[in-house]
Amino acid sequence: MRIEANLGDITDQDVDAIVNAANSALAGGGGVDGAIHRAAGADQMHAACAKLGGCAIGDAKATPGFRLPAKWVIHTVGPRYRDGRHGEPEALASCYRRSVEVAEELEATSIAFPAISTGIYGYPREEAAHIAVKTLMDLQPKTLLLVRLVSFDDYGLSLYQNEMGG
Ligand code: ADP
Repeated sequence: MRIEANLGDITDQDVDAIVNAANSALAGGGGVDGAIHRAAGADQMHAACAKLGGCAIGDAKATPGFRLPAKWVIHTVGPRYRDGRHGEPEALASCYRRSVEVAEELEATSIAFPAISTGIYGYPREEAAHIAVKTLMDLQPKTLLLVRLVSFDDYGLSLYQNEMGG
């Protein structure tokens, strides 16, 4: 499995599955969530999410990608950051692990992640990038060949590059 980091918009990614930084109601929202719902087709995505019965923090559930280039959307719920001592690191790591597990169940060969929890949920970006890369590097998936970390800006990309060793 190869891990790469790119600059871009998560909704444009031509991979089997993209990951959504969702909320536990899977009700749609701002940031990545809003962009994915709009690009997939808000009505269809909303209806598909409504059937899933919500999602716990650190867990992940899939829907089709509808109008997106990606075949699937894996909705994961990141922790809201408080002070890092309320289980946030474990919950964030779990988002990456569970999303990869769900991708494997779907027999996806490629997956793209946004920087979960680093927007509205306030996770410090440096720590979040560290957890993302470390957690993914520890996994040994079977079907998944490519994991792409997608950053919306240069700073986020540089964080991933540092964590991946330059
Ligand atoms: P959360 O609620 O989990 O914090 P957000 O959607 O608010 O999630 O933001 C997560 C990260 O994704 C932020 O760093 C934000 O800059 C970035 N982001 C926002 N929109 C996009 C997009 N369309 N593609 C990729 N990254 C995005």
